[in-house]
Amino acid sequence: MAADDADTTRTDQLTFQNPVTRYPEITPPEQVQAEPGLQAEMTPKPDIGEFSYRGTGRLEGRRALVTGGDSGIGAAVAVAFAREGADVAISYLPEEEKDADEVVRIITESGRRAVKLPGDLTDPALCSGIVERTVAELGGLDILVNNAAKQIANDSLEETPDEQIVQTFEANVLATFRVTKAALPHLPPGSAIINSTSVVAYQPPPPLLDYASTKAAINNFTKGLAQELAPKGIRVNAVAPGPIWTPLQPSHGQPVEDLPEFGKSTPLGRAGQPTELAPAYVFLASPESSYVLGETLAVTGGMPTP
Ligand code: NAD
Ligand code: MG
Repeated sequence: MAADDADTTRTDQLTFQNPVTRYPEITPPEQVQAEPGLQAEMTPKPDIGEFSYRGTGRLEGRRALVTGGDSGIGAAVAVAFAREGADVAISYLPEEEKDADEVVRIITESGRRAVKLPGDLTDPALCSGIVERTVAELGGLDILVNNAAKQIANDSLEETPDEQIVQTFEANVLATFRVTKAALPHLPPGSAIINSTSVVAYQPPPPLLDYASTKAAINNFTKGLAQELAPKGIRVNAVAPGPIWTPLQPSHGQPVEDLPEFGKSTPLGRAGQPTELAPAYVFLASPESSYVLGETLAVTGGMPTP
């Protein structure tokens, strides 16, 4: 492991520390992977919390499904949920088996059960299938995190292939609708749904028009569904990350020449690490946020959101 790997960090999220210097500065070398990208092949490795997320029993006995739970933010959320006492099912693309195995190892070593759900969420049958398997294997479902997403940067709208636009909406928006619909009959009062949106929902970068539009749709879906489900005692919220060092970025999610400067224009002056998102998801999943509904929690390193 290289000395500059972020996962060499050993202070946890409860240590009093300066957020500017919590991590060594990441200046990722230019690197390209085929989509969806493997975390195992990134330089430096993102911090998903194996050595830096300490649980405090906030999700004891809960059953969670996290889409895109093999890597990046979803992996950090899965690890944090397990450290907080939840069993966790993770969905991911079949080519991401290596990353998924690593997350399963950490969940299991944290003393919780893990369920692996490979498959492509652009298939409507898989959207309901992952919910049914989670319920069957974990004995129920109380926390759903719609986090899987496709992000491909293009030079212009004219150069954005129609097929990419369709797949981005299928993976990000339609799958969120379908997985959520399939989950509803299983979610008892007290359950939480958390959707991953983005700062780009408010500040759409021109190379990411399709992706940014899906994130705005997810934000809107969150606020509408929160009102519908409130009387049932099911809370729906979203998290809007800023620039976070995950496999999405070096697998065509950003123009490759922009990677070394990734995240440096935020007020904190650095990209975020996946595990820095986890406490927001834990807060929204846990009963302590009982009066928080339809909220989008920004975790952006200080980039302003409305
Ligand atoms: P990531 O690549 O680690 O996670 C995305 C995951 O989505 C992949 O691991 C993959 O398993 C899954 N996925 C994509 N297409 C799929 C499909 N068709 N079927 C099944 N699974 C599929 O990257 P990440 O950055 O951790 O992304 C997680 C979430 O965070 C996404 O919703 C993303 O939009 C959001 N987000 C990320 C950033 C950032 O800077 N990294 C910023 C804002 C929002
Ligand atoms: Mg992945």
